[in-house]
Amino acid sequence: MEPVSPFDMKEMELVFPQFADEDKMSESEICVKCHGCCNYVTVPIDSPRSKDRIDNYVWYLLHRNVEIYIDNYKQWFLLFKTPCDKLQPNGFCGIYESRPNVCRDYSATACSRVGKDHTHLFKKPDEFLAFLAEKKKKKTVAKKKRQAA
Ligand code: SF4
Ligand code: SF4
Repeated sequence: MEPVSPFDMKEMELVFPQFADEDKMSESEICVKCHGCCNYVTVPIDSPRSKDRIDNYVWYLLHRNVEIYIDNYKQWFLLFKTPCDKLQPNGFCGIYESRPNVCRDYSATACSRVGKDHTHLFKKPDEFLAFLAEKKKKKTVAKKKRQAA
Protein backbone atom coordinates (compact mmCIF):
# COMPACT_ATOMS: atom_id res chain seq x y z
CA MET A 1 0.00 0.00 0.00
CA GLU A 2 1.28 3.47 -0.94
CA PRO A 3 2.05 5.60 2.13
CA VAL A 4 -0.32 8.58 2.49
CA SER A 5 1.34 11.92 2.95
CA PRO A 6 -0.08 13.95 5.87
CA PHE A 7 -0.02 16.95 3.53
CA ASP A 8 -2.67 15.24 1.37
CA MET A 9 -5.08 14.85 4.30
CA LYS A 10 -7.93 17.33 4.01
CA GLU A 11 -10.03 18.94 6.73
CA MET A 12 -13.30 16.98 7.05
CA GLU A 13 -16.62 18.72 7.55
CA LEU A 14 -19.23 16.90 9.60
CA VAL A 15 -22.59 16.97 7.85
CA PHE A 16 -25.98 16.24 9.41
CA PRO A 17 -28.39 16.68 6.49
CA GLN A 18 -32.13 17.25 6.54
CA PHE A 19 -34.24 15.47 3.92
CA ALA A 20 -37.30 16.93 2.23
CA ASP A 21 -39.28 13.67 2.48
CA GLU A 22 -38.10 12.53 5.91
CA ASP A 23 -41.62 12.44 7.38
CA LYS A 24 -42.14 9.45 5.07
CA MET A 25 -38.82 7.80 6.00
CA SER A 26 -38.12 5.37 8.86
CA GLU A 27 -35.41 6.22 11.41
CA SER A 28 -33.13 3.58 9.87
CA GLU A 29 -33.62 5.02 6.40
CA ILE A 30 -32.71 8.48 7.70
CA CYS A 31 -29.58 7.12 9.43
CA VAL A 32 -28.43 5.23 6.34
CA LYS A 33 -28.79 8.39 4.24
CA CYS A 34 -27.24 10.66 6.88
CA HIS A 35 -24.53 8.50 8.54
CA GLY A 36 -23.29 11.72 10.17
CA CYS A 37 -22.38 10.12 13.49
CA CYS A 38 -20.26 7.42 11.82
CA ASN A 39 -17.69 10.07 10.95
CA TYR A 40 -16.26 11.05 14.31
CA VAL A 41 -15.35 9.90 17.80
CA THR A 42 -15.42 11.97 20.99
CA VAL A 43 -13.54 11.64 24.27
CA PRO A 44 -14.51 13.48 27.47
CA ILE A 45 -11.79 15.79 28.77
CA ASP A 46 -11.39 17.97 31.86
CA SER A 47 -12.14 21.66 31.63
CA PRO A 48 -8.90 23.61 30.99
CA ARG A 49 -8.07 24.96 34.44
CA SER A 50 -4.25 24.96 34.34
CA LYS A 51 -1.70 26.53 32.00
CA ASP A 52 -0.37 23.07 31.10
CA ARG A 53 -3.81 21.81 30.18
CA ILE A 54 -4.53 24.91 28.09
CA ASP A 55 -1.22 24.37 26.31
CA ASN A 56 -2.15 20.73 25.62
CA TYR A 57 -5.55 21.71 24.26
CA VAL A 58 -3.90 24.22 21.93
CA TRP A 59 -1.69 21.37 20.73
CA TYR A 60 -4.76 19.20 20.07
CA LEU A 61 -6.36 21.99 18.04
CA LEU A 62 -3.25 22.50 15.95
CA HIS A 63 -4.01 19.09 14.41
CA ARG A 64 -6.20 18.69 11.36
CA ASN A 65 -9.61 17.14 11.99
CA VAL A 66 -9.41 17.60 15.76
CA GLU A 67 -11.88 19.89 17.53
CA ILE A 68 -12.99 20.58 21.09
CA TYR A 69 -16.52 21.31 22.22
CA ILE A 70 -18.50 21.92 25.41
CA ASP A 71 -21.79 20.05 25.52
CA ASN A 72 -25.12 21.24 26.93
CA TYR A 73 -24.16 19.81 30.35
CA LYS A 74 -20.86 21.79 30.46
CA GLN A 75 -18.77 18.66 29.77
CA TRP A 76 -15.71 19.26 27.60
CA PHE A 77 -14.99 16.84 24.75
CA LEU A 78 -12.20 16.20 22.29
CA LEU A 79 -13.61 15.40 18.86
CA PHE A 80 -11.75 13.48 16.15
CA LYS A 81 -13.29 13.78 12.69
CA THR A 82 -12.55 10.42 11.14
CA PRO A 83 -14.83 7.91 9.40
CA CYS A 84 -15.54 4.54 11.00
CA ASP A 85 -13.86 1.71 9.08
CA LYS A 86 -17.14 -0.23 9.16
CA LEU A 87 -19.16 2.45 7.36
CA GLN A 88 -20.02 1.10 3.91
CA PRO A 89 -20.13 3.26 0.77
CA ASN A 90 -23.93 2.77 0.64
CA GLY A 91 -24.32 4.25 4.17
CA PHE A 92 -24.92 0.88 5.85
CA CYS A 93 -23.03 -0.31 8.92
CA GLY A 94 -20.76 -3.25 8.09
CA ILE A 95 -21.19 -4.74 11.57
CA TYR A 96 -24.81 -3.74 12.24
CA GLU A 97 -25.68 -6.76 14.44
CA SER A 98 -22.59 -6.35 16.64
CA ARG A 99 -22.14 -2.56 16.47
CA PRO A 100 -21.03 -0.86 19.72
CA ASN A 101 -23.66 0.29 22.20
CA VAL A 102 -22.87 3.93 21.59
CA CYS A 103 -24.00 3.43 17.98
CA ARG A 104 -27.20 1.68 19.14
CA ASP A 105 -28.04 4.54 21.51
CA TYR A 106 -28.18 7.09 18.70
CA SER A 107 -31.53 7.76 17.10
CA ALA A 108 -32.53 9.88 14.14
CA THR A 109 -34.98 11.81 16.31
CA ALA A 110 -32.50 12.69 19.10
CA CYS A 111 -29.08 13.36 17.61
CA SER A 112 -26.79 16.07 16.25
CA ARG A 113 -28.99 16.22 13.16
CA VAL A 114 -32.07 17.52 14.99
CA GLY A 115 -30.65 19.61 17.83
CA LYS A 116 -27.57 21.56 18.83
CA ASP A 117 -25.63 19.29 21.19
CA HIS A 118 -22.98 21.80 22.20
CA THR A 119 -22.76 25.33 23.56
CA HIS A 120 -19.26 26.02 22.20
CA LEU A 121 -17.20 24.49 19.42
CA PHE A 122 -13.50 25.28 18.91
CA LYS A 123 -11.98 24.34 15.59
CA LYS A 124 -8.75 26.29 15.90
CA PRO A 125 -6.53 27.40 18.83
CA ASP A 126 -7.44 31.09 18.32
CA GLU A 127 -11.15 30.38 18.93
CA PHE A 128 -10.34 28.43 22.09
CA LEU A 129 -7.95 31.10 23.44
CA ALA A 130 -10.42 33.90 22.63
CA PHE A 131 -13.10 32.02 24.60
CA LEU A 132 -10.78 31.68 27.62
CA ALA A 133 -9.79 35.37 27.41
CA GLU A 134 -13.45 36.42 27.30
CA LYS A 135 -14.26 34.16 30.26
CA LYS A 136 -11.38 35.64 32.24
CA LYS A 137 -12.54 39.17 31.39
CA LYS A 138 -16.08 38.41 32.58
CA LYS A 139 -14.74 36.89 35.81
CA THR A 140 -12.61 40.00 36.49
CA VAL A 141 -15.57 42.33 35.90
CA ALA A 142 -17.78 40.21 38.21
CA LYS A 143 -15.07 40.20 40.90
CA LYS A 144 -14.70 44.00 40.69
CA LYS A 145 -18.48 44.41 40.98
CA ARG A 146 -18.53 42.16 44.07
CA GLN A 147 -15.68 44.13 45.65
CA ALA A 148 -17.41 47.45 44.91
CA ALA A 149 -20.72 46.28 46.42
S1 SF4 B 1 -28.34 9.09 14.57
FE1 SF4 B 1 -28.64 11.10 13.66
S2 SF4 B 1 -26.58 11.83 13.11
FE2 SF4 B 1 -26.48 9.61 13.43
S3 SF4 B 1 -26.74 8.74 11.41
FE3 SF4 B 1 -28.75 8.78 12.39
S4 SF4 B 1 -29.67 10.70 11.72
FE4 SF4 B 1 -27.47 10.84 11.30
S1 SF4 C 1 -19.92 0.63 13.93
FE1 SF4 C 1 -21.46 0.96 12.37
S2 SF4 C 1 -22.96 2.37 13.28
FE2 SF4 C 1 -21.09 2.42 14.52
S3 SF4 C 1 -19.90 4.16 13.74
FE3 SF4 C 1 -19.21 2.30 12.66
S4 SF4 C 1 -20.44 2.21 10.81
FE4 SF4 C 1 -21.45 3.63 12.20
